[in-house]
Amino acid sequence: MFDGAYRGRLLRIDLTSRRSTIETIREKYIKTLLGGRGLAAKYYYDEIQPDSEPFDNTNKLFFFTGPLTGLPLPSTTKFQLATKSPETRMYLCSNSGGDFGPQLKAAGFDGMIIEGQAKDWTYLLIQDDKIVFENASGWRGYSTEQTRQELQNALGGHRGGVLSIGPAAEKLVRISYINVDTRAFGRGGAGAVLGSKKLKGIAVRGTGEIPVADQVKINEIRRAAIQQLKTSRANHTKYGTPQYIEVINELGCMPTRNFQTAFFEETDRIDAHMMRSQYWKKNYACYRCPVACGKVCVVKNGPYKGARARTEFETIGLLGPNCGIADFGAIVKANQLCDEIGLDTMSTGNAVALTMELFERGLISRADTDGIDARFGNAEALLAIIELIGNRKAIGDLLAEGMHQVRRQKPEWSPYILEVKGMPFAAYEPRGFHGNGLTYGTSNRGACHNVGGWTIRAELQSGQYDRYALEGKGELVKTIQDNRAYVDSLGLCTVVRGSLGFSDNPKGEVMKAATGYDFMPELMDIGARVYTLERLILNREGIRRRDDLLPERTTNEAIPSGPTKGRILTQDMYSIMLDEYYQARGWSQDGVVQDDTIERLGLEGLVE
Ligand code: SF4
Repeated sequence: MFDGAYRGRLLRIDLTSRRSTIETIREKYIKTLLGGRGLAAKYYYDEIQPDSEPFDNTNKLFFFTGPLTGLPLPSTTKFQLATKSPETRMYLCSNSGGDFGPQLKAAGFDGMIIEGQAKDWTYLLIQDDKIVFENASGWRGYSTEQTRQELQNALGGHRGGVLSIGPAAEKLVRISYINVDTRAFGRGGAGAVLGSKKLKGIAVRGTGEIPVADQVKINEIRRAAIQQLKTSRANHTKYGTPQYIEVINELGCMPTRNFQTAFFEETDRIDAHMMRSQYWKKNYACYRCPVACGKVCVVKNGPYKGARARTEFETIGLLGPNCGIADFGAIVKANQLCDEIGLDTMSTGNAVALTMELFERGLISRADTDGIDARFGNAEALLAIIELIGNRKAIGDLLAEGMHQVRRQKPEWSPYILEVKGMPFAAYEPRGFHGNGLTYGTSNRGACHNVGGWTIRAELQSGQYDRYALEGKGELVKTIQDNRAYVDSLGLCTVVRGSLGFSDNPKGEVMKAATGYDFMPELMDIGARVYTLERLILNREGIRRRDDLLPERTTNEAIPSGPTKGRILTQDMYSIMLDEYYQARGWSQDGVVQDDTIERLGLEGLVE
């Protein structure tokens, strides 16, 4: 059926027996679920039992590229991961750029499943069909970057794609990330799953050509898209995601001091203009990306001189204002520290902010913080608490277990914990735009602004929606989620999707030219199918309406100051949006996928 883009093969690696096998991916799965996130969810559905624990040897990591991964089009860098999350204890989907996905595809594989547990620390070398298991015992304690360099060397100087974990993942810190070249599988603690399997990293190199159905058309589409991106994404090229710091703050939606308020008074010290003029060193790009939205920042003066990190909006927001920090140098240093240890900066920022609020309220003391004066705004405290988490020391040992466990062990701290399903909030305040609250509540991996739906443009920028309105938000969030689900299944970066026609109403010839099959008219339906398949997994793992609710601070406390002063998103207000959302999805009022919805979306035959 497909003349290009897919390789049709899956690499399965068993760490226990140190064996690898190659399987064929059924055409029906590709036709109905596209690739990437869709296929990862399907294999997870088939192979992970609901009661499987994240660190059991029954847990697996499902990596899948999409049809566009590695193709000669802009930003075809993405690939997807599904696993049982150590942080949320349920299904996790995650996406990353970098070179690994395109290299895996060039090696001849659409996907790779890692299962079992190695006896000793191991790394893997994949060079086309040749799979080698090597001993990594000497790399214990290495940072993500040291490990990446060792793996790159192991490829004998050839360019490849590399996954690596840091020391936090070795210690099973549940907010550990997987480094992917210059990008990451950030949220959900997938790094700790690799840690539990004693797999320190993987390097892959592919030398094969990825076929396309119509090379001439692909070249034509590429030229037009690159031209369009020069203007449509000029701000991403100049400022990257930090461009949103000023905007989000001015609109009163910047998480400040553990989401106690939503406006940070010193944003001019940390915004994109400051970054660009004082700290920016160079841009960096994922595979085949003309936008190059990544910003390498270097601290030139002061106590953190020499610190260097790839700093993004979410990291700045959550390690900065949410911890009361207005020193950009300290944020870069904290970012670097998280990267080296291997901690997700977003969950870490939330964990540090929680610690600071508990400390200021007198609910914990220096005895809990290893002697640190853990007040908001104390940059040294920010760095020290990150070390405590990475080393599982003092309060860091509990924080390393993730917010799910923190709430369980310390229910009296609940009013200060900002999470849904165990995943802490992203750097947006949902009381300031209510569709964002629905995003956090209904995202299939916990409080995530990407999987859940990025409503910033619709609610805050375009004027299309009243940000405080409730009606219409269910439909809006569903549409954005479905769009994102199919883009994640394509293997494409979301930043460039518009240049290739991948909107809510997909148009153009990309899919036909790439695969020989015109997926375009079906893409939104595929997005809805993928999202619903993921919800079926969550239902099977016990997730219901009660798990889609927002935390107390959001529903019980009005924002006390700033442009959104007085705003609140009460449980009753939230329920109006949630009811509409469930109806739009065809789920019951308890959040359970209904049989007629399974049939309508063509999921029968794919699920039991
Ligand atoms: S726009 Fe940014 S995140 Fe997307 S592919 Fe390009 S560099 Fe990577």
